[in-house]
Amino acid sequence: MSAEAPLGVTPAAEDGVGVAEMVEEAAVWCAVHGLVVGDRSQPRSGTVPGVGLVHAPFSLLPTHFPASFWKQACELAPIFNDLVDRVSLDGEFLQDSLSRTRQVDDFTARLLDIHVKMMEVNKKEDIRLGLHRSDYMLDSETNSLLQIELNTISSSFPGLGSLVSELHRTLLNRYGKDLGLDSKRIPRNWAATQFAEALGMAWTQFNNESAVIMMVVQPEERNMYDQYWLINHLKESYPFIICFLFPCNVKKTLAQVEAEGQVLPDGTLVVDGRTVSVVYFRAGYSPNDYPSEAEWKARLLMEQSSAIKCPSISYHLVGTKKIQQELAKPNVLERFLDNKEDIAKLRKCFAGLWSLDNEEIVKTAIEKPDLFVLKPQREGGGNNIYGHDLRETLIRLQKEQGEALAAYILMQRIFPRASLTHLVQGGVCFEDLTISELGIYGAYLRNKDKIVMNNQCGYLMRTKVSSSNEGGVAAGFAVLDSILLT
Ligand code: ADP
Ligand code: MG
Ligand code: MG
Repeated sequence: MSAEAPLGVTPAAEDGVGVAEMVEEAAVWCAVHGLVVGDRSQPRSGTVPGVGLVHAPFSLLPTHFPASFWKQACELAPIFNDLVDRVSLDGEFLQDSLSRTRQVDDFTARLLDIHVKMMEVNKKEDIRLGLHRSDYMLDSETNSLLQIELNTISSSFPGLGSLVSELHRTLLNRYGKDLGLDSKRIPRNWAATQFAEALGMAWTQFNNESAVIMMVVQPEERNMYDQYWLINHLKESYPFIICFLFPCNVKKTLAQVEAEGQVLPDGTLVVDGRTVSVVYFRAGYSPNDYPSEAEWKARLLMEQSSAIKCPSISYHLVGTKKIQQELAKPNVLERFLDNKEDIAKLRKCFAGLWSLDNEEIVKTAIEKPDLFVLKPQREGGGNNIYGHDLRETLIRLQKEQGEALAAYILMQRIFPRASLTHLVQGGVCFEDLTISELGIYGAYLRNKDKIVMNNQCGYLMRTKVSSSNEGGVAAGFAVLDSILLT
């Protein structure tokens, strides 16, 4: 396929190959290879493993993606890993940048409170583990790769994302010739094994053979198989490590960590009688994860301990939208990074980002709301404000006295080129105009001065109907996809 090929266009699958046949084959592949999620319509599917499964939503064929942009995105991963680590060490920067946000956003304020407590006791994290995902879209107007956001907590789909690449490779090995698509152009995707490897290596650095890796998850999680894939890989590579998956056989939630956990005088975190080496958060990123004080106590308890937190409270804060916007200001990257080329590479992928104390830009956004996205300090999809709502919200916030605007940032809206794609959801295939978002996973592990790991590790392509603003797969907006390099 030539470099000029339109993005995302899959040759009409109807040409010689039956779509229905491929859909059936793909759905069977998902079922027998664990590319599954809990089915919304099954009440127990989010709590009882093995009950009420449905194939994860997927695109029938991989989306075309230019190799040059792919390379650019991969190269950025270790630089972003490094940046997160450097910024995390500057507690004052995090507190100052978020100081106005904290006045109007209770959730961010609570995170900052924990962070302040750690600063007060001068808490140092010698071993630091980051499992990140930096998300990008290709902007058709400027023909450039622009970052949507950097996730530093609960970066999801390393497990299922890796499998989609395998699914597409399998389909192209069978049908690729007829479709004119070469399966070798799908990059290998090791996200799940490499995230597991990073967790295992963190456990090794902790150097206590009887300590467990604890995964903190939501009490109800339909995306539990994505998490089980990590545990599975971990058990294969490190059979002697014991994992808690909450709420699996050892059922825990943040609230239960509070009830059963303690920090010993030497800093050891003990939960349910076991020493914890690594706390891996797949919960805790949303206000909904903290329905009572107990969950906040659990978060603080874990932060106070010597266990490796993935992420630590500082890593978590570095991933906020506000910090993304602060880092995009002139001369801020230079505070944290020395290498000029790295700085230039990062800056190149930054879209326009503004704080709302910039009256000029607020005025422009009210006039042309379709050119912007209004973002609160939230994760997990479904929180951004667009178009007409964006205009109304800005007008309302302007009228309110005080700091109401400080809860948000404004971002340049990115316009990827739309293309026709076959999407499969709940066994049903439909064709629609779609746009895609490429996430690149990064793993970073450091022990004092030694960088143990700093890698790009796999990717996640998500494709959504172009008329939908939001992009979450778990939130029901997008399907899992992979890429075919052009
Ligand atoms: P979250 O942390 O909730 O995932 P994101 O910043 O990733 O927040 O926004 C959610 C979704 O909104 C993205 O997956 C993407 O589809 C869409 N989106 C976010 N920012 C932009 C933007 N600047 N231009 C176009 N779409 C965007
Ligand atoms: Mg996010
Ligand atoms: Mg996102």
